Amino acid sequence: MTSFYYTDAMMTLDDKTAQERIQALREKLNTHNYLYYVLDTPEITDTAYDALYQEILALEREHPELVTPDSPTQRVGDEPLKEFSQVTHINRLYSLDNAFSIEDLQNWEERIKRLLPAERYSELSYVAELKLDGLAITLIYEDGHFVKGATRGNGVVGEDITQNLKTIRSIPLRIPVKNTKTPVPQKFEARAEAVMPINSFLHLNEERQQRGEPEFANPRNACAGSLRQLDPKVPAHRNLDALFYAGILIENGHQPPIPTHWEMLNYIESLGFKLNPARKQCKTLDEVAEFIEKWGKQRTKLGFATDGAVVKVDSFALQEILGYTAKSPRWAIAYKYPAEVKETIVKEVELSVGRTGVITPIAIMEPVQLAGTTVRRASLHNFDEVRKKDIRVGDTVRVQKAAEIIPEVLEVVFEKRPESSINIEEPQNCPVCEATTTRFHGEVAIRCSNPETCGAQRRTRLEYWVSKQGMDIDHVGPALIDQLVREKLVDGPVDFYKLMVDDFLKLERMAEKSALNAYQSIQESKKRPLHAVVNALGIPHVGKETAILLTHHFHSMEKLADASIEELMEIEGIGPKVAESIVGFFGDIENQNMIADLKALGITMHSKAATEDMLPKDTSHPFYGKIFVLTGTLPTLTRDEAEEGIRKVGGKISSSISKKTDYLLLGENPGSKYDKAAKLNIPILEESEFKALL
Ligand SMILES: [Zn+2]
Repeated sequence: MTSFYYTDAMMTLDDKTAQERIQALREKLNTHNYLYYVLDTPEITDTAYDALYQEILALEREHPELVTPDSPTQRVGDEPLKEFSQVTHINRLYSLDNAFSIEDLQNWEERIKRLLPAERYSELSYVAELKLDGLAITLIYEDGHFVKGATRGNGVVGEDITQNLKTIRSIPLRIPVKNTKTPVPQKFEARAEAVMPINSFLHLNEERQQRGEPEFANPRNACAGSLRQLDPKVPAHRNLDALFYAGILIENGHQPPIPTHWEMLNYIESLGFKLNPARKQCKTLDEVAEFIEKWGKQRTKLGFATDGAVVKVDSFALQEILGYTAKSPRWAIAYKYPAEVKETIVKEVELSVGRTGVITPIAIMEPVQLAGTTVRRASLHNFDEVRKKDIRVGDTVRVQKAAEIIPEVLEVVFEKRPESSINIEEPQNCPVCEATTTRFHGEVAIRCSNPETCGAQRRTRLEYWVSKQGMDIDHVGPALIDQLVREKLVDGPVDFYKLMVDDFLKLERMAEKSALNAYQSIQESKKRPLHAVVNALGIPHVGKETAILLTHHFHSMEKLADASIEELMEIEGIGPKVAESIVGFFGDIENQNMIADLKALGITMHSKAATEDMLPKDTSHPFYGKIFVLTGTLPTLTRDEAEEGIRKVGGKISSSISKKTDYLLLGENPGSKYDKAAKLNIPILEESEFKALL
């Protein structure tokens, strides 16, 4: 029976079967979610996942009474809050004492030993875990359901950020995630570090820079800033993650006690929580020191910002004997890796012109070795920042890598300032096209006023078009774009789609295989979703997140292009600046032509959800505006073909029979919809009649 419902998901399900199907879908989706976000081993494609998701969404819409809090549809969708409410933690969240050297750790061990009876020294061992640099969060599960999540706050009282945490895909809404035999306590507290992966952080900052918004200093700030948004749609689009490091059984139920921290980690992992992979059970402090040294070198490869290692006494019994000081547990300590700061000299300042015309000052420095790489350049972000830090060419500056990632100029060593130091002036003209520069009101960014013809911008715009955030055209990189522009084969994005394999072969050093790859990946990019196309256009102030918002709202490029400033501003998250920029972009005749060309070349102009809005205008067709329900197998048409046909003439498809249904399209082996339709006297069409009318 189960497979029947898979192939025929659109049938009306009576309440009992709907409930079973919803439950099956929920488990499936939660499992795939877990495989993807926690284990990083997806078993199905995104498209297949989307199909399951759409199915449960449709079923839940029909049966709102069957929606449960752990449904995957419930991750985003809560209304924005007015303010966060306060939560008093069940168990206090202590902060940890810091150690800055191995010697500090040895002193800590001595203190511990003084507090323990000598006969228990043999039980003393440790767990070392790399410490992620994020936001401490605590989550409460009752009977396996995620019921409340909060920030650490002052350790006693935090803020309720449950709805934002639900948007983090690796956080299970229900445990155990898979149908394992792991017993679940009645009430359980799980603690984690919420983090923004480094790549997401870099993308977010790039977007903010393009929009002239202040960048986040590090992934921790970006993560905290995202989780402290009252509207859960913001964190939902920020690709946050949560790595768990502790569990507390509040009401144990039938759960046998867990004797050590290490076993607790394994236990919470078996429940489906995501754990920090950098952890080790250490018999001695020497092993801890080895762990710290090893990860000191490798931690930059983890994909998350880290700032140290946490060392804990493994045995819970010993932890209890050791207890707490007023501020922190005596059985744990945080080792901090030293931040590497070096001095170097600013040789010159380069102005880089971005995709939307933003001009960014970049310090070019004497090469210096920092956190494993040679650093020559550091963004100075904007001219306000330059003035604030009073950086001049010729200055000796102290540099470090913010969160071990991005080189930044900390400060000027004023004692070493030479008399010949040169002020860094705000440019009056674009360094590339000489057009005057402008500064929008309230913005820190300075922009080229001539975004249409500025050569550098044209180039970065092409690069942006093919980039991952844009149309994701795999085999076309900056070097190839250079060649194509030089040979006058490409001027704007439209030209990519006019290239034939032969055009690539004309280029120097172009092998047949590379030509074919480039051609194919350009052609494939035509199918990218609408939000990718909107983003790839490079409308000033519109980045990925805004593109998604716009696509959700308009579902089609045409509607977006027609929108007025007022309409745009009705969308939550779109302010006057963005709205003006969008209207300005689509009002430009060159852009209008470009979009018409892209459309003619077959690039996506509608989002999936828009199919119903793409209806023809022939209102005289007998099916126009009529609501159809389909059941059973049709003799010649596939279900897709039949639905397509209905939509083409302006009809609508519904998945269940109600009084509003106009026609039931009946195939062989119909389901319960047939009986229901007959009961309600709804006209029934067989395929032949349907085809004739169509
Ligand atoms: Zn310019």
